[in-house]
Amino acid sequence: MANVYEDMTTEALDAEIEHLQKQADEIRAQNVSLDMARGKPSAEQTALARPMLDLLTSETKLEDGAAIVDNYGTPDGLPSARALAAQILGVEPANIVVSGSSSLNLMHDVVTHGFTNGVAGNKPWCQQGQVKWLCPAPGYDRHFTVTAHLGIKNIPVPMHEDGPDMDMVQRLVESDPSVKGIWCVPKYANPTGVTYSDEVVRRFASLKPAAPDFRIYWDNAYCVHGFGEKDDALLNVFDALADVGATDLVYEFGSTAKVTFPSSGIAFVTASASDMAEVRKAFGVSRVSPEKFSQLAHVLFLKDLDGVKAHMAKHAAIVAPRFALVEQKLTDGLADLGIAKWTHPHGGYFVSFDGPEGSARKIVALMSELGVKLTPAGATWPYGDDPHDTNIRIAPTYPSLEELGQALDIFVIAVRLVSARLARAKRA
Ligand code: PMP
Repeated sequence: MANVYEDMTTEALDAEIEHLQKQADEIRAQNVSLDMARGKPSAEQTALARPMLDLLTSETKLEDGAAIVDNYGTPDGLPSARALAAQILGVEPANIVVSGSSSLNLMHDVVTHGFTNGVAGNKPWCQQGQVKWLCPAPGYDRHFTVTAHLGIKNIPVPMHEDGPDMDMVQRLVESDPSVKGIWCVPKYANPTGVTYSDEVVRRFASLKPAAPDFRIYWDNAYCVHGFGEKDDALLNVFDALADVGATDLVYEFGSTAKVTFPSSGIAFVTASASDMAEVRKAFGVSRVSPEKFSQLAHVLFLKDLDGVKAHMAKHAAIVAPRFALVEQKLTDGLADLGIAKWTHPHGGYFVSFDGPEGSARKIVALMSELGVKLTPAGATWPYGDDPHDTNIRIAPTYPSLEELGQALDIFVIAVRLVSARLARAKRA
């Protein structure tokens, strides 16, 4: 659809800008303070897991089969917690390590191990000159920071509706031995909400990397986070690997950060038997054994995958109306103008929004002036560099429905005003 502002007469466009400017001035005078930046569950959601806190008392048996909870030991995590994590990821418990409360910590540790000590007997990356990493974008800024922090060169790869641009991924991974990894959020991706298609997962599993120490970093953070009528189906990447007889290609991560409590969930990693042997050794340098009270509490509370699903249905009931409100407000306010597009996820925590070229920074700045905090423009790209300055991440879960509605009304005005001004500036 054509941009209506570009098609308007200059007189009509000036009148529209004046009208929108007036609306923005009225909002500014109201001194609102709203936040649509944070990919966090609301207080109502975290309250769902409060009963977990009552399950560990001084009377609780601090054993898990043969494992002791209240002492060192069981470096791979409690057997029952490993079984739970294995069910969540759909893999064998034998290759799971449950450790700590943050999957980002685990990703950082695994990547840093490759940098300092090398992967699968290869030279450490820090001794291999400039190494590179593929970053489907828009993507998760903290992934990009982990690799950028080590001086690894992040290379953006376009995201399509079925996953990353696999022609580009395949070309780079199979031709360039300095490419050592790729960040993937395969289900309800942050921020697009995209779930990779079966074909994309199969193409990942079939990669023939130029580098023997290349791995796919498969962050399945939102694997049980559907809120739509139908859950997206993600092909299990380890099944896809088995189908083509491949191994030693994927590390998969997950956590209950957005199941129970962010920062107080349990986190896990899985990979092939030989990759996990290396991960265990690396983790053993900095851990005698993981924290296990939280693991026990999680098992007592969630029990198994059915328990997780029942719990996530409660989250879905809270979250779905917020995403429906985003869809409704953006459709009502912007759909007919030909200036924006956005994603329509069935799960996860975000909506990815694209305005006209050169608009994102201006929209986020104007929103800030009007009292609404958004994720900084560019954050969804490596080095904060969105090449077309279009992308904004909308995080609708944290505010109340009323606050969210107010924030979205302001967003619509900001998008229209910035877009109209950009169209006017082109005429000068
Ligand atoms: N991966 C993705 C894709 C995320 O969006 C987030 C943030 N919620 C995390 C990982 C962080 O998870 P954790 O709290 O387990 O470190």
